[in-house]
This record gives sequence, C-alpha cells and structure tokens, in this order.
Amino acid sequence: SVSTPYRGRFAPSPTGLLHAGSLATAVGSYLEARCRGGEWLVRIEDLDPPREQAGASEHILATLAAFGFEWDGEVVYQSRRHRLYREALQLLAERGLAYQCACTRREIALAARPGVDGPVYPGTCRHGLPPGREGRAWRLKVEPGEVGFVDRLQGYYAQDLARDVGDFVLLRADGFWAYQLAVVVDDADQGITDIVRGADLLVSTPRQIWLQRCLAVTTPTYCHLPLLVNAAGEKLSKQTLAPAIDPGRAAAELRLALNRLGHEPDTACQSVAELWQWAFANWRLDQVAPSPVAV
Ligand code: GLU
Repeated sequence: SVSTPYRGRFAPSPTGLLHAGSLATAVGSYLEARCRGGEWLVRIEDLDPPREQAGASEHILATLAAFGFEWDGEVVYQSRRHRLYREALQLLAERGLAYQCACTRREIALAARPGVDGPVYPGTCRHGLPPGREGRAWRLKVEPGEVGFVDRLQGYYAQDLARDVGDFVLLRADGFWAYQLAVVVDDADQGITDIVRGADLLVSTPRQIWLQRCLAVTTPTYCHLPLLVNAAGEKLSKQTLAPAIDPGRAAAELRLALNRLGHEPDTACQSVAELWQWAFANWRLDQVAPSPVAV
C-alpha cells in the first residue's frame, strides 16, 4: 500500500511574539517534517482578538523567514475560516452531539469539581436549556471511558473525558470559536498527518481525538516536545515575560534551540544555513528529552 505522505504544521497564536519556547517548537516540528521528506505548513491561530497583540502575526512570520524556515503553500489564517467551523458545529448539533449551554462561569464554578484543565462541567444544560434561560455557548458531549493515544515522545497518555474534563466548549459565550474546535477542523481540512507541538497541549489532545471521532475525521500522530521553563519552573510565555526572539541573532538562537532539543551542532557551523544543513543530516527525535528543559 502507498503510505500517506507526511504533512506537519506550526500553528502559532499571535497573542505575543516568538520567544525561545515557541522557536524550539517550530524548529522541532520543521526538522521532523523535513527529515521525513514531508511538507510543513504555517497556520496563524488568530481566533481570539481580545488576546491578540497588534502586529504579532507579521512579526512571527518575519522572524520565521529570518531564521530560514521555508513553509509550503500560503499561510492560513483561522480568522478567515469561520465558515468551516460553523459547518462543523452544525454537523455536531444535527447529530445530537453538541448542545447549547446557558451557564455562566460563576454558576459552573459553584457546581463543578476540579478537573485536569479547569472545572469539570456538571452537565447542567446537557438535556436542554433551563426554562427561561438563553444559550450562550455550545458544548460537545463526552462519554465515560478512556480516550488515549501513544505520543511519539511522551508515551501513552489518556483521560476519561467525562471524569477529567466534562462536556467542553466549542463556541464560547463571547461568540469566539474555541481553540479545540478550530484546531481539529483545520488539521483535518489541511490534511495534517503528524502534529509536533509543545507539551502544554498534551492535556488538550484527548479532547481533540474525541472531537475527531465525533466528526469522523482521521486522527494524526502526536509528538509533544518538552516545554522550556524558567528558573522558577514556569513555562516560557508572554505571561512569564519571556523575551521575544531577536532575528538579528538568528544563528545563535537556532543553535540554542537545537541544544535544548538535545542536539549539538559542530562548532564549525556558524551561519543559519550551515546549522540547518547540519540539523537536516543529524536530527533524531530520540535525542529529544521528553521532560521540561530549564533555560
Ligand atoms: N495556537 C496554539 C498555541 O500557540 C498551538 C496549537 C497547536 O499546535 O495545536 O499554543
């Protein structure tokens, strides 16, 4: 049989500029794609305008270009793909898998027990809106039972979605699409076969696999790269004030990113082009440590 060609992607949210953590994720996902003879797509996940930083998308793309990343095809923007998300939600609603929810954050906080990623929704609106209440959000029904997968780096990971997460949001009460819905719809629509991303998203993956099953789309393989953490053990992010990557120091930053992914390029490699050439020849996923890397 003919095996499906590899297609990977990098999907930054323009809520901040690229920092050392997101650069390492981009490097790992790029090398995995290129070393498997695959394609590598870039998708800007700009679905949360209130959290976005003006100019961040342009800055992220310019930084990637300065580092010598070459993506396949046009950059895709989630903000231009509402129709796809609406169609997916409609399909789920027609199949009785999604429902409207009237609950406020406060009501949920009062009724819910803690889960693996926030409160477990208690199912208040699962069988219909309470009388006199209006739907605010849309949720996906989950069922008891283990949803698991073998991560290429982290090993087996599973959740019981009913116990650990509860029926989760697809369309938010503020009118914006939930990350979980958009990412699953786009990965399927773009034919992504292999997802390489940061380990902070491991906790989301069982929800995404469940959603793939509900939409009857293929589940890609997953590889969650180690998070970069600061001296306090916190993930590098805008919130922890991780500095933006300086494209003027691309060679030094690329070497550091490779080091953090368990690779030591020859000291003779000085330029960005030489470092990539070394990395294309020497990249091995089994040299990457699964656990957080302190920077
Ligand atoms: N946009 C997400 C983020 O920047 C990544 C989504 C993904 O790789 O699945 O955290």
